[in-house]
Amino acid sequence: MFGLMQKHALLISDLIEFAQANHGDTEIVSRRVEKDIHRTTWSEVAKRSQKVAHALDAKNVARGERIATLAWNGYRHLELYFGVSGSGRILHTLNPRLHIDQMTWIINHAEDQVLCFDLSFAAIVAQLQSLCPTVRHWIALCDASTLAQHPELKHCESYEGWIEPHSTSYDWPELDENTASSLCYTSGTTGHPKGALYSHRSTVLHAFGIALPDVMNLSARDSVMPVVPMFHVNAWGIPYAAAMVGAKLVMPGPALDGESVYELIEQEKVTFAAGVPTVWQMLLNHMSPKGLRFAHLRRTVIGGSACPPSMISAFKNEYGVEVLHAWGMTELSPLGTLCSLKNKHLSWSQDEQMALLIKQGRSIFGVEMKIVGDHGESQPHDGKTYGDLYVKGPWVIDRYFKDTHSALKDGWFATGDVATIDPEGFMLITDRSKDVIKSGGEWISSIEIENIAVAHPSVAMAACIGMPHPKWDERPVVVVVKRAQADLSKEELLAFYKGKVASWQIPDDVIFVESIPLGATGKMLKTRIREMLADYRLPL
Ligand code: ADP
Repeated sequence: MFGLMQKHALLISDLIEFAQANHGDTEIVSRRVEKDIHRTTWSEVAKRSQKVAHALDAKNVARGERIATLAWNGYRHLELYFGVSGSGRILHTLNPRLHIDQMTWIINHAEDQVLCFDLSFAAIVAQLQSLCPTVRHWIALCDASTLAQHPELKHCESYEGWIEPHSTSYDWPELDENTASSLCYTSGTTGHPKGALYSHRSTVLHAFGIALPDVMNLSARDSVMPVVPMFHVNAWGIPYAAAMVGAKLVMPGPALDGESVYELIEQEKVTFAAGVPTVWQMLLNHMSPKGLRFAHLRRTVIGGSACPPSMISAFKNEYGVEVLHAWGMTELSPLGTLCSLKNKHLSWSQDEQMALLIKQGRSIFGVEMKIVGDHGESQPHDGKTYGDLYVKGPWVIDRYFKDTHSALKDGWFATGDVATIDPEGFMLITDRSKDVIKSGGEWISSIEIENIAVAHPSVAMAACIGMPHPKWDERPVVVVVKRAQADLSKEELLAFYKGKVASWQIPDDVIFVESIPLGATGKMLKTRIREMLADYRLPL
């Protein structure tokens, strides 16, 4: 027997309609490429996203076609989020930090028909135009007079000119909730990038999930700053969840340096922010020497790569900001876990709490996790046994875009991460499976070794790599960028490890470098570091 409730589809257009009807005067603040601060509201964003929908109709872009964006976080990008998906087209956010060849491959694979770009990417667009034959329309996210200052851009029209003639009211189609809504490619450190094609249903369920109190705890009382770019897995779903709860949104645009982010956080009374550790490090580096403090910021989600414990305690003890460590990936829309304490942990000592808070956290309702051994056998959730992390749930990928085969194994998605899960469900990532260091039959977690290094006051960044060893198979070395003006010797850093890990886990060597290569989403590129160390030999 079926239940007798309405079969109302879960649609992205509902999110923006809701924000318009219930939170219409709530502000959306953006730092623009034009360098000024722009203010609008959910109501205006809703109206202009309806203009976008009409403008796409006028260009005869069929439902299901892909509309690419090459843009920072800002109100125009937000209008595209709702206008494109709401009208049944697919929003394809491109990562501008990718190499031009990779970007070209992705656009051609997605067969994008329209590409909307911020003027910061004019030079990239000029190159892409001859390489991407499927793109029929190139739209610069600015007004006509600003576009006119860029004579190098041919065959482009301005966004403002494009949407201007159209009505602010659009009959959003009643789509099947499983209709595709947006497309993100993984960065593909090996092989070609792969597309995760989200649906309206997966996106709306993910928005419900991340807004929950034990997750991001988003509300209409929050001023929310996604520092994480809208081209990095849809800014972790925050634009959708913000519309769902009616939060104020503060968008940092292209200015992601510590000073600009701090200024905007204070000016707009931001209460909640989200980003990768490298961005927060820039913020702390700006604040610490000047003795700056936050007046309103209360919570920050840090994820995308492991958040060092030293960063969690700095935020908490020096700035009174709660760090919520989160884990996810493109294939998970992206959020899988987030670390927040349960009631019984509140009476624990600071040290005991910290031992939990450094973990990647517990499942959000909807995401199931298991860890498995080398032969596919399920491993115990005892907080000690390592295994390959598998997940399933309504916002987890089934199949990559244009692939004919499911990406699943017995209904589960293999994340490529290695983790432990404790009896209370808290998960700890120890490594990407390809980065695990195997020494004498035992595993050494590169993340743990890196976390200890960056807790040293003279270390700015650290990457731990396994190097071939004749007796132990592999031994860890730690590649370190020192802080400006810091004086640090190899012996001093190795001594810092004593008592923090078992003696056989202490790295065999420290290699000081000027910088560590970062990928398009701010993660350390271990493949490149290994290439840099091609001629390196361990001290034996
Ligand atoms: P890409 O693979 O394209 O770089 P993703 O953002 O999809 O981008 O990366 C997902 C991977 O990032 C995860 O599988 C995991 O290895 C890593 N990751 C994400 N969050 C964390 C975290 N909090 N701690 C450790 N690793 C993380």
